[in-house]
Amino acid sequence: MVQFNDNVMTIALKGEPAKSCDIRFGEGLFPEISEDVKKLYNGRRYAIITDSNVRLLYGEMLKEEIGRDAEVFSFEAGEKSKNIYTCDDIIGDMTKSKYGRDTLILALGGGVVGDMAGFIAAIFNRGVPYIQIPTTLLAQADSSVGGKTAVDTKHGKNLIGAFKQPEKVYIDISTIKTLSDRDYKNGLAETIKHGIIQDDKYFEYLKNNLSDILNRDPESLLTIAKRNCEIKGNVVEKDPNEKGLRRILNYGHTIGHAIEKLSNYELSHGEAVSIGMMAAGRISNKLGYFSDSELKRQEELIRNAGLPIAIPRKIHDEDIIEATTLDKKAKGGRARYVLPISIGTMNEFGGAYATYVNNDVVIDALQRTR
Ligand code: NAD
Repeated sequence: MVQFNDNVMTIALKGEPAKSCDIRFGEGLFPEISEDVKKLYNGRRYAIITDSNVRLLYGEMLKEEIGRDAEVFSFEAGEKSKNIYTCDDIIGDMTKSKYGRDTLILALGGGVVGDMAGFIAAIFNRGVPYIQIPTTLLAQADSSVGGKTAVDTKHGKNLIGAFKQPEKVYIDISTIKTLSDRDYKNGLAETIKHGIIQDDKYFEYLKNNLSDILNRDPESLLTIAKRNCEIKGNVVEKDPNEKGLRRILNYGHTIGHAIEKLSNYELSHGEAVSIGMMAAGRISNKLGYFSDSELKRQEELIRNAGLPIAIPRKIHDEDIIEATTLDKKAKGGRARYVLPISIGTMNEFGGAYATYVNNDVVIDALQRTR
Protein backbone atom coordinates (compact mmCIF):
# COMPACT_ATOMS: atom_id res chain seq x y z
CA MET A 1 0.00 0.00 0.00
CA VAL A 2 1.20 3.49 -0.76
CA GLN A 3 2.08 5.52 2.35
CA PHE A 4 0.95 9.10 3.02
CA ASN A 5 2.94 11.50 5.16
CA ASP A 6 1.39 14.94 5.14
CA ASN A 7 1.56 16.07 1.53
CA VAL A 8 3.96 13.38 0.37
CA MET A 9 2.92 9.98 -0.88
CA THR A 10 5.44 7.14 -1.22
CA ILE A 11 5.02 4.33 -3.72
CA ALA A 12 7.23 1.28 -3.11
CA LEU A 13 8.07 -0.34 -6.42
CA LYS A 14 9.13 -3.94 -6.80
CA GLY A 15 11.83 -4.84 -9.27
CA GLU A 16 15.60 -5.13 -9.51
CA PRO A 17 16.56 -3.00 -7.71
CA ALA A 18 13.44 -2.18 -5.70
CA LYS A 19 12.81 1.55 -5.74
CA SER A 20 10.46 3.89 -4.02
CA CYS A 21 9.10 7.09 -5.47
CA ASP A 22 7.79 10.10 -3.56
CA ILE A 23 5.00 12.24 -4.90
CA ARG A 24 4.82 15.73 -3.40
CA PHE A 25 1.47 17.57 -3.60
CA GLY A 26 1.06 21.32 -3.17
CA GLU A 27 0.58 24.76 -4.63
CA GLY A 28 3.39 27.02 -5.83
CA LEU A 29 6.08 24.35 -5.55
CA PHE A 30 8.75 25.83 -7.86
CA PRO A 31 10.91 27.34 -5.06
CA GLU A 32 10.86 23.97 -3.26
CA ILE A 33 11.70 22.05 -6.45
CA SER A 34 14.63 24.39 -7.04
CA GLU A 35 15.92 23.98 -3.49
CA ASP A 36 15.51 20.18 -3.60
CA VAL A 37 17.30 19.61 -6.88
CA LYS A 38 20.21 21.81 -5.87
CA LYS A 39 20.52 20.00 -2.52
CA LEU A 40 19.88 16.41 -3.66
CA TYR A 41 21.48 16.59 -7.10
CA ASN A 42 24.27 19.01 -6.32
CA GLY A 43 26.89 19.07 -9.07
CA ARG A 44 24.49 17.93 -11.77
CA ARG A 45 23.29 20.00 -14.69
CA TYR A 46 19.57 20.46 -14.94
CA ALA A 47 17.80 19.96 -18.27
CA ILE A 48 14.22 21.23 -18.17
CA ILE A 49 12.45 19.41 -21.00
CA THR A 50 9.09 20.93 -21.93
CA ASP A 51 6.86 21.88 -24.87
CA SER A 52 6.39 25.23 -26.60
CA ASN A 53 3.27 26.20 -24.59
CA VAL A 54 4.54 25.19 -21.17
CA ARG A 55 7.93 26.77 -21.87
CA LEU A 56 6.26 30.19 -22.03
CA LEU A 57 3.90 29.58 -19.11
CA TYR A 58 6.24 27.86 -16.64
CA GLY A 59 9.51 26.70 -18.26
CA GLU A 60 11.39 29.98 -18.13
CA MET A 61 9.97 30.61 -14.65
CA LEU A 62 11.42 27.33 -13.36
CA LYS A 63 14.76 28.05 -15.01
CA GLU A 64 14.89 31.48 -13.32
CA GLU A 65 14.12 29.82 -10.01
CA ILE A 66 16.93 27.23 -10.35
CA GLY A 67 19.52 29.59 -11.82
CA ARG A 68 22.56 29.14 -13.99
CA ASP A 69 22.90 25.34 -13.97
CA ALA A 70 19.52 24.97 -15.69
CA GLU A 71 18.65 25.18 -19.35
CA VAL A 72 15.27 24.77 -21.07
CA PHE A 73 14.91 22.37 -24.04
CA SER A 74 11.55 22.51 -25.78
CA PHE A 75 9.67 21.09 -28.75
CA GLU A 76 6.44 22.02 -30.51
CA ALA A 77 3.46 21.15 -28.31
CA GLY A 78 1.24 18.24 -29.32
CA GLU A 79 1.11 14.48 -29.76
CA LYS A 80 2.62 14.75 -33.25
CA SER A 81 5.94 15.69 -31.64
CA LYS A 82 6.02 12.53 -29.51
CA ASN A 83 8.46 10.60 -31.66
CA ILE A 84 12.04 9.44 -31.80
CA TYR A 85 13.06 12.33 -34.11
CA THR A 86 12.06 14.93 -31.52
CA CYS A 87 14.03 12.95 -28.92
CA ASP A 88 17.04 13.01 -31.23
CA ASP A 89 16.70 16.80 -31.67
CA ILE A 90 16.48 17.37 -27.91
CA ILE A 91 19.41 15.04 -27.24
CA GLY A 92 21.34 16.91 -29.95
CA ASP A 93 20.61 20.26 -28.27
CA MET A 94 21.58 18.87 -24.88
CA THR A 95 24.83 17.51 -26.28
CA LYS A 96 25.65 20.87 -27.92
CA SER A 97 25.18 22.45 -24.50
CA LYS A 98 27.62 19.84 -23.09
CA TYR A 99 25.08 17.92 -21.05
CA GLY A 100 26.35 14.41 -20.32
CA ARG A 101 26.06 11.68 -17.69
CA ASP A 102 25.83 14.39 -15.02
CA THR A 103 22.36 15.42 -16.24
CA LEU A 104 19.20 15.57 -14.17
CA ILE A 105 16.14 15.85 -16.41
CA LEU A 106 13.11 17.80 -15.21
CA ALA A 107 10.06 16.76 -17.25
CA LEU A 108 7.81 19.83 -17.07
CA GLY A 109 4.49 19.53 -18.89
CA GLY A 110 1.62 17.23 -19.83
CA GLY A 111 1.68 13.56 -20.69
CA VAL A 112 3.48 14.13 -23.99
CA VAL A 113 6.40 15.85 -22.23
CA GLY A 114 6.41 13.28 -19.39
CA ASP A 115 6.43 10.29 -21.74
CA MET A 116 9.09 11.71 -24.01
CA ALA A 117 11.37 13.32 -21.39
CA GLY A 118 11.12 10.10 -19.37
CA PHE A 119 12.11 8.11 -22.44
CA ILE A 120 15.07 10.45 -23.04
CA ALA A 121 16.06 9.90 -19.39
CA ALA A 122 15.96 6.13 -20.03
CA ILE A 123 18.27 6.26 -23.07
CA PHE A 124 20.44 9.39 -22.83
CA ASN A 125 23.97 8.27 -21.93
CA ARG A 126 22.46 4.85 -21.08
CA GLY A 127 20.17 6.46 -18.54
CA VAL A 128 20.13 9.55 -16.32
CA PRO A 129 17.81 10.38 -13.39
CA TYR A 130 14.69 12.45 -13.96
CA ILE A 131 11.89 14.06 -12.02
CA GLN A 132 8.33 14.62 -13.19
CA ILE A 133 6.55 17.96 -12.84
CA PRO A 134 3.18 17.24 -14.49
CA THR A 135 1.15 20.30 -15.50
CA THR A 136 -2.06 18.79 -16.98
CA LEU A 137 -4.79 17.06 -15.01
CA LEU A 138 -4.22 13.94 -17.11
CA ALA A 139 -0.52 13.90 -16.28
CA GLN A 140 -1.17 14.64 -12.59
CA ALA A 141 -3.87 11.95 -12.43
CA ASP A 142 -2.25 9.31 -14.51
CA SER A 143 0.79 9.50 -16.75
CA SER A 144 3.39 10.89 -14.30
CA VAL A 145 2.91 7.92 -11.96
CA GLY A 146 4.02 4.41 -12.83
CA GLY A 147 7.21 4.90 -14.81
CA LYS A 148 5.89 4.11 -18.29
CA THR A 149 7.71 6.18 -20.91
CA ALA A 150 7.27 6.02 -24.68
CA VAL A 151 7.21 7.64 -28.08
CA ASP A 152 4.89 6.98 -31.04
CA THR A 153 5.99 5.65 -34.43
CA LYS A 154 4.19 5.71 -37.78
CA HIS A 155 3.17 2.12 -37.00
CA GLY A 156 1.41 2.92 -33.75
CA LYS A 157 1.14 4.86 -30.51
CA ASN A 158 3.68 4.30 -27.72
CA LEU A 159 5.43 1.57 -29.73
CA ILE A 160 8.92 2.44 -28.53
CA GLY A 161 9.38 2.89 -24.80
CA ALA A 162 10.84 1.80 -21.51
CA PHE A 163 9.89 1.47 -17.89
CA LYS A 164 11.85 4.22 -16.13
CA GLN A 165 10.74 5.37 -12.70
CA PRO A 166 11.21 9.06 -11.87
CA GLU A 167 13.22 10.01 -8.79
CA LYS A 168 10.31 12.10 -7.56
CA VAL A 169 7.03 13.58 -8.83
CA TYR A 170 5.98 17.15 -7.91
CA ILE A 171 2.26 17.80 -8.38
CA ASP A 172 1.77 21.54 -8.33
CA ILE A 173 -1.97 22.10 -8.63
CA SER A 174 -1.53 25.83 -9.34
CA THR A 175 -0.43 24.93 -12.89
CA ILE A 176 -3.94 23.58 -13.61
CA LYS A 177 -5.48 27.07 -13.68
CA THR A 178 -4.07 27.84 -17.15
CA LEU A 179 -5.23 24.56 -18.71
CA SER A 180 -7.87 24.73 -21.49
CA ASP A 181 -11.33 23.42 -20.66
CA ARG A 182 -10.93 20.53 -23.10
CA ASP A 183 -7.59 19.46 -21.64
CA TYR A 184 -9.03 19.71 -18.14
CA LYS A 185 -11.96 17.44 -19.09
CA ASN A 186 -9.48 15.02 -20.62
CA GLY A 187 -8.01 14.48 -17.16
CA LEU A 188 -11.46 14.32 -15.59
CA ALA A 189 -12.28 11.25 -17.70
CA GLU A 190 -9.32 9.34 -16.19
CA THR A 191 -10.32 10.66 -12.75
CA ILE A 192 -13.84 9.24 -13.13
CA LYS A 193 -12.30 6.01 -14.40
CA HIS A 194 -10.33 5.72 -11.14
CA GLY A 195 -13.55 5.89 -9.14
CA ILE A 196 -15.20 3.21 -11.27
CA ILE A 197 -12.29 0.77 -11.19
CA GLN A 198 -11.35 1.03 -7.53
CA ASP A 199 -13.40 3.21 -5.26
CA ASP A 200 -17.15 3.69 -5.01
CA LYS A 201 -16.69 6.34 -2.25
CA TYR A 202 -14.38 8.36 -4.49
CA PHE A 203 -16.93 8.08 -7.30
CA GLU A 204 -19.57 9.52 -4.93
CA TYR A 205 -17.15 12.28 -3.87
CA LEU A 206 -16.72 13.24 -7.53
CA LYS A 207 -20.47 13.24 -8.06
CA ASN A 208 -21.23 15.32 -4.96
CA ASN A 209 -18.45 17.87 -5.53
CA LEU A 210 -18.67 18.12 -9.29
CA SER A 211 -19.36 21.84 -9.45
CA ASP A 212 -16.28 22.67 -7.27
CA ILE A 213 -14.21 20.29 -9.35
CA LEU A 214 -15.41 21.84 -12.62
CA ASN A 215 -14.57 25.28 -11.16
CA ARG A 216 -11.06 24.00 -10.35
CA ASP A 217 -11.40 24.84 -6.69
CA PRO A 218 -7.87 24.35 -5.19
CA GLU A 219 -9.02 22.16 -2.29
CA SER A 220 -10.88 19.83 -4.67
CA LEU A 221 -7.90 19.78 -7.03
CA LEU A 222 -5.66 18.70 -4.16
CA THR A 223 -8.12 16.02 -3.07
CA ILE A 224 -8.47 14.52 -6.53
CA ALA A 225 -4.72 14.75 -7.22
CA LYS A 226 -4.01 12.73 -4.07
CA ARG A 227 -6.72 10.13 -4.57
CA ASN A 228 -5.88 9.68 -8.26
CA CYS A 229 -2.24 9.02 -7.45
CA GLU A 230 -3.12 6.79 -4.52
CA ILE A 231 -5.37 4.62 -6.71
CA LYS A 232 -2.90 4.45 -9.57
CA GLY A 233 0.04 3.99 -7.14
CA ASN A 234 -1.60 1.05 -5.37
CA VAL A 235 -2.29 -0.70 -8.66
CA VAL A 236 1.23 -0.06 -9.98
CA GLU A 237 2.81 -1.23 -6.72
CA LYS A 238 1.05 -4.58 -7.05
CA ASP A 239 1.66 -5.00 -10.77
CA PRO A 240 4.47 -2.73 -12.01
CA ASN A 241 4.85 -4.48 -15.39
CA GLU A 242 1.18 -4.93 -16.33
CA LYS A 243 0.88 -8.69 -15.96
CA GLY A 244 -2.68 -8.61 -14.57
CA LEU A 245 -4.22 -6.08 -12.18
CA ARG A 246 -2.69 -3.06 -13.93
CA ARG A 247 -4.98 -3.81 -16.89
CA ILE A 248 -7.89 -2.30 -14.93
CA LEU A 249 -6.33 1.11 -15.62
CA ASN A 250 -7.27 0.36 -19.22
CA TYR A 251 -11.00 0.41 -18.50
CA GLY A 252 -12.75 2.06 -21.47
CA HIS A 253 -9.55 2.07 -23.50
CA THR A 254 -10.16 -0.91 -25.84
CA ILE A 255 -13.03 0.81 -27.62
CA GLY A 256 -11.76 4.24 -26.55
CA HIS A 257 -8.43 3.90 -28.41
CA ALA A 258 -10.26 2.52 -31.46
CA ILE A 259 -12.68 5.45 -31.76
CA GLU A 260 -9.96 7.99 -30.89
CA LYS A 261 -7.99 6.73 -33.91
CA LEU A 262 -11.06 6.35 -36.17
CA SER A 263 -12.10 9.95 -35.39
CA ASN A 264 -8.68 10.98 -36.76
CA TYR A 265 -7.98 12.27 -33.26
CA GLU A 266 -10.85 14.78 -33.48
CA LEU A 267 -11.99 13.15 -30.25
CA SER A 268 -9.51 13.77 -27.45
CA HIS A 269 -8.20 10.79 -25.49
CA GLY A 270 -10.45 11.56 -22.50
CA GLU A 271 -13.51 11.99 -24.70
CA ALA A 272 -12.84 8.67 -26.41
CA VAL A 273 -12.24 6.91 -23.09
CA SER A 274 -15.52 8.29 -21.72
CA ILE A 275 -17.42 6.80 -24.67
CA GLY A 276 -15.31 3.64 -24.36
CA MET A 277 -16.32 3.28 -20.69
CA MET A 278 -19.97 3.60 -21.69
CA ALA A 279 -19.61 0.86 -24.31
CA ALA A 280 -17.58 -1.43 -21.98
CA GLY A 281 -20.14 -0.85 -19.22
CA ARG A 282 -22.84 -2.03 -21.64
CA ILE A 283 -20.83 -5.12 -22.60
CA SER A 284 -20.55 -5.92 -18.90
CA ASN A 285 -24.27 -5.23 -18.49
CA LYS A 286 -25.19 -7.56 -21.36
CA LEU A 287 -22.99 -10.30 -19.88
CA GLY A 288 -24.86 -9.93 -16.59
CA TYR A 289 -22.00 -8.46 -14.50
CA PHE A 290 -22.89 -4.74 -14.30
CA SER A 291 -26.46 -3.81 -13.31
CA ASP A 292 -28.71 -1.29 -15.07
CA SER A 293 -28.56 1.03 -12.05
CA GLU A 294 -24.72 0.98 -11.94
CA LEU A 295 -24.64 1.68 -15.67
CA LYS A 296 -26.94 4.65 -15.08
CA ARG A 297 -24.73 6.01 -12.26
CA GLN A 298 -21.70 5.80 -14.56
CA GLU A 299 -23.55 7.53 -17.40
CA GLU A 300 -24.81 10.37 -15.19
CA LEU A 301 -21.40 11.29 -13.84
CA ILE A 302 -19.71 11.16 -17.24
CA ARG A 303 -22.47 13.27 -18.80
CA ASN A 304 -22.62 15.80 -15.94
CA ALA A 305 -18.86 16.24 -16.15
CA GLY A 306 -19.42 17.51 -19.70
CA LEU A 307 -17.89 14.47 -21.36
CA PRO A 308 -19.45 12.69 -24.35
CA ILE A 309 -21.33 9.40 -23.94
CA ALA A 310 -22.16 8.44 -27.55
CA ILE A 311 -20.11 7.15 -30.46
CA PRO A 312 -20.14 9.66 -33.36
CA ARG A 313 -22.41 8.43 -36.21
CA LYS A 314 -19.63 8.52 -38.81
CA ILE A 315 -17.64 5.84 -36.96
CA HIS A 316 -18.90 2.39 -37.99
CA ASP A 317 -19.23 -0.68 -35.77
CA GLU A 318 -17.18 -2.98 -38.01
CA ASP A 319 -14.29 -0.48 -38.15
CA ILE A 320 -14.33 -0.26 -34.36
CA ILE A 321 -14.23 -4.07 -34.03
CA GLU A 322 -11.32 -4.22 -36.48
CA ALA A 323 -9.41 -1.47 -34.67
CA THR A 324 -9.82 -3.15 -31.27
CA THR A 325 -7.78 -6.14 -32.48
CA LEU A 326 -4.72 -3.85 -32.39
CA ASP A 327 -5.24 -3.07 -28.71
CA LYS A 328 -2.29 -4.05 -26.53
CA LYS A 329 -4.46 -6.43 -24.48
CA ALA A 330 -5.44 -8.35 -27.64
CA LYS A 331 -4.18 -11.90 -27.90
CA GLY A 332 -4.10 -13.94 -31.12
CA GLY A 333 -5.80 -11.07 -32.96
CA ARG A 334 -8.77 -10.97 -30.56
CA ALA A 335 -9.54 -8.02 -28.32
CA ARG A 336 -9.91 -8.45 -24.58
CA TYR A 337 -12.09 -6.22 -22.41
CA VAL A 338 -11.73 -4.89 -18.88
CA LEU A 339 -15.18 -5.02 -17.29
CA PRO A 340 -16.72 -3.69 -14.05
CA ILE A 341 -19.07 -5.68 -11.83
CA SER A 342 -20.07 -2.61 -9.82
CA ILE A 343 -18.79 0.94 -9.37
CA GLY A 344 -15.49 0.41 -7.51
CA THR A 345 -15.00 -3.27 -8.36
CA MET A 346 -13.68 -4.87 -11.54
CA ASN A 347 -14.13 -8.41 -12.73
CA GLU A 348 -10.91 -10.34 -11.98
CA PHE A 349 -11.32 -13.00 -14.68
CA GLY A 350 -9.00 -15.37 -12.80
CA GLY A 351 -6.29 -12.74 -12.31
CA ALA A 352 -6.16 -11.63 -15.98
CA TYR A 353 -8.56 -8.70 -15.37
CA ALA A 354 -9.51 -8.83 -19.07
CA THR A 355 -11.62 -11.21 -21.12
CA TYR A 356 -12.59 -12.10 -24.68
CA VAL A 357 -16.09 -11.06 -25.69
CA ASN A 358 -18.11 -12.36 -28.66
CA ASN A 359 -18.51 -9.85 -31.46
CA ASP A 360 -22.31 -9.92 -31.27
CA VAL A 361 -22.15 -8.71 -27.64
CA VAL A 362 -19.70 -5.96 -28.59
CA ILE A 363 -21.85 -4.87 -31.53
CA ASP A 364 -24.95 -4.80 -29.33
CA ALA A 365 -23.07 -2.53 -26.86
CA LEU A 366 -21.81 -0.29 -29.66
CA GLN A 367 -25.35 0.11 -31.02
CA ARG A 368 -26.63 1.03 -27.56
CA THR A 369 -23.86 3.64 -27.30
CA ARG A 370 -25.19 5.75 -30.18
P1 NAD B 1 -0.28 17.10 -23.68
O1 NAD B 1 0.97 16.81 -22.96
O2 NAD B 1 -0.19 17.24 -25.15
O3 NAD B 1 -0.91 18.43 -23.08
C1 NAD B 1 -2.11 18.94 -23.63
C2 NAD B 1 -1.95 20.42 -24.00
O4 NAD B 1 -1.92 21.18 -22.80
C3 NAD B 1 -0.68 20.75 -24.76
O5 NAD B 1 -0.98 21.66 -25.76
C4 NAD B 1 0.20 21.40 -23.69
O6 NAD B 1 1.12 22.29 -24.25
C5 NAD B 1 -0.82 22.09 -22.85
N1 NAD B 1 -0.45 22.32 -21.45
C6 NAD B 1 0.22 21.50 -20.62
N2 NAD B 1 0.20 22.00 -19.37
C7 NAD B 1 -0.48 23.17 -19.42
C8 NAD B 1 -0.85 24.14 -18.45
N3 NAD B 1 -0.58 23.96 -17.15
N4 NAD B 1 -1.54 25.22 -18.85
C9 NAD B 1 -1.89 25.37 -20.17
N5 NAD B 1 -1.58 24.48 -21.13
C10 NAD B 1 -0.89 23.40 -20.75
O7 NAD B 1 -1.40 16.00 -23.38
P2 NAD B 1 -1.84 15.23 -22.06
O8 NAD B 1 -3.28 15.02 -22.22
O9 NAD B 1 -1.32 15.85 -20.82
O10 NAD B 1 -1.09 13.83 -22.22
C11 NAD B 1 -1.37 12.94 -23.28
C12 NAD B 1 -0.23 11.97 -23.42
O11 NAD B 1 -0.09 11.22 -22.22
C13 NAD B 1 -0.43 10.96 -24.55
O12 NAD B 1 0.71 10.93 -25.35
C14 NAD B 1 -0.60 9.64 -23.82
O13 NAD B 1 -0.10 8.55 -24.57
C15 NAD B 1 0.20 9.88 -22.56
N6 NAD B 1 -0.19 9.02 -21.43
C16 NAD B 1 0.79 8.32 -20.81
C17 NAD B 1 0.49 7.50 -19.74
C18 NAD B 1 1.59 6.78 -19.03
O14 NAD B 1 1.31 5.97 -18.13
N7 NAD B 1 2.83 7.03 -19.35
C19 NAD B 1 -0.82 7.41 -19.27
C20 NAD B 1 -1.81 8.15 -19.91
C21 NAD B 1 -1.48 8.96 -21.01
